[in-house]
This record gives sequence, structure tokens and C-alpha cells, in this order.
Amino acid sequence: MTNRQNVIWWTSRGLIGLGAAAALVYFIAIPTWDTIDYVFFEQPQSEVLEDLTIAEQIRIRGMEFFTATWFAALGAVVASYLNVIAYRMPIGKTVFAKDSACPSCGSRIRMADNIPIIGWLRLRGECRDCQEPISVRYPLVEFVGAAIFLTLYIVEVLSGAENIPNTTRYFYRGALWIVWYTKWDVIGLYFYHCLLLSSLLTFALLGIDRHRVPWFAFTTAVVFGLVPPQIWTHLNPIAPIPGDVFAELFPFEPQRLSGVCGLLAGMILGGAIDLSINRLLRRPSWESLCGLGVAGTFLGWQATLAIASALCSVLIIILAARVMWKPTFTIPANGCLCFVTLVFLCSWSWLLKSYGSLWP
Ligand SMILES: [Zn+2]
Repeated sequence: MTNRQNVIWWTSRGLIGLGAAAALVYFIAIPTWDTIDYVFFEQPQSEVLEDLTIAEQIRIRGMEFFTATWFAALGAVVASYLNVIAYRMPIGKTVFAKDSACPSCGSRIRMADNIPIIGWLRLRGECRDCQEPISVRYPLVEFVGAAIFLTLYIVEVLSGAENIPNTTRYFYRGALWIVWYTKWDVIGLYFYHCLLLSSLLTFALLGIDRHRVPWFAFTTAVVFGLVPPQIWTHLNPIAPIPGDVFAELFPFEPQRLSGVCGLLAGMILGGAIDLSINRLLRRPSWESLCGLGVAGTFLGWQATLAIASALCSVLIIILAARVMWKPTFTIPANGCLCFVTLVFLCSWSWLLKSYGSLWP
């Protein structure tokens, strides 16, 4: 075994061990302790989980755990597909159908080796046929995808979309009440935002390889952002202008124009960033115009202003770091945008509550 394979072997065994230990604590230790604590030390409370036996608690925790795992796995699968898109689109190959193949020898990758993250660890980072190393970038991107879907699941789905302003508030929340007794408005918002973050992740992957965002990718993402809120207007929670002003001008709900206003705002702000900071960072042309344009389409112009200003600060810090340390690697502007957007989505309601009087 080579040194690289050794590292991968021990890392994967270590991860499995850690996972098993965490599961043991989560399923057995915590419910047991809760029950002991409840029986011997605490006064009876009205919390639902407190009244359950250990077996029932384990069952509920199991359900919560597998639901969360399912969403994380979905993120890894989506990211694995985005990897393929970002690799094939710039070289003009079709992004649909066709099995994945080894980039070095072109041999087909077997089903079992194609499982996100796990497949790469099983192969110890080498192609089964030609033994050429497979870039660690693939499992890393899949891990990032899983992390994004899981974070948004915890913040948006489990809370019943409490992070999103102007949404219905549910009294009962959590995996059981939002996912299994499905609240479609929350699930819709979740997948709409996952679609946005997946588009930005694809743009980021293209940016790492210093490719421009293809026109086709940009327009597809914009259409994905514009169409669903025309059917389900709750996907755009904030109207572009106050409702009473709007009602005198147009005969339909103001949210329907949210996407177009956001797209314009995002393209203008992104274009300005491209011509200033991104030029100094030597990024491919119109990187932020595409990224912020898509973010604006999904979230409206008010959110785009907040995201653009946060993005500016991050890019200026990166620029300062580059001037000081002259690193060899680059961070794509849309990678930063994807991260900033995720943070924004997680704190949207809270931001509006705190700064609503200052912000439109
Ligand atoms: Zn190969």
C-alpha cells in the first residue's frame, strides 16, 4: 500500500469508529440519562419526550437520525452530480445520462464504487482499473453538498421555516411534524433554497477551474428561480415594493415580480464587484454577476443587497490575505457567495427582526 492509501484507509476506519461512538451516545446514553435524570432528580414536566419510555425515545431518535441522514445523503448525491456537470459542461460533453467514467482511462465506474464519499474511500482514492489517483476533490465536494443540505435541513425544516420571514409558524415542529406529517410549504421552501445553493456550488466548481459560468448554466438557474414562485408565491416571502403601493400599479400579487427585481439587482451589484474586487483577484469575467444574479432571482432584491455587502467584505479580506501571503490556491468568488448565502438563509428572520427598521 502506498502512503496515500494508508492515510485514506486509516481515515475511513477512524470516521466509521467515530460515527459508531456518536450513534451509541445519541441512541443509548442520552435517552438513558434523560430517563434516570427525570425519574430521580427532576420534577415532572409537560415536555413530550420526558413522558416516553427509553424504548420509545430510542425509536423517535432513530426516526430523527435516519431522516437527517437521508437529507445529508441526498446532498451528497446531488453534489456528486454537480461534480459531473462542472467537469463536463466546459468541455462541451452532455451533462445528461451516460455513466460516470474514470477521467484517466475512461473505463466505466461500477455502481458500488460510485456511492458518494464511501465509494472513493472504498477505492482508497484510486481507479479500480488503471490505479490512477482519483482527485480528493470529488469526495470533498460531496461532503460539502451533504453539509449544506443537512445544515439547511436542521435550520429550515426542523424549525418549520422559522428562519424565513413572513411564513406560517407551526406549533409542533421537528422531523415527525414537518417531514412525516408533511408541511409542504416548509418542504417547498427547503428544496427551493437547496436548488439555489446547488446552482451556486456548481458555479463555484466552475470557478475553481477558472472557467466562466456558461450562458446555459446561468439561464437554467435563473429559470429555476423564476418559475416556481409564479405557482407557489410563498417561495418569495418579501414583496419588492410595499403591497399598498403595488396594488395601485399592478393587478396581481407583488411577490410575482420579486424574482425579476432580484435578478436585476444581483446583476448590477455582481457586475460592480466583477469590475472592481474580482478584477484585482483575477477572477474569470462576470463571475459575481452570474452568482449574485441567480441569488437575487431566488431571494429578491432586499436579500441581495445584504448578501452582496457580506460578499464584498469576504472578498476584500481574501484580497488582503493574497497581497500579504501570496498563496498559490484561489478561492472562487461564487464559493464565498454560496457560503454567505447559506449563512444568510439561516439568519434571515433574525436579521430582519434586528435590522428591519434600517433595511428595506
Ligand atoms: Zn482509470
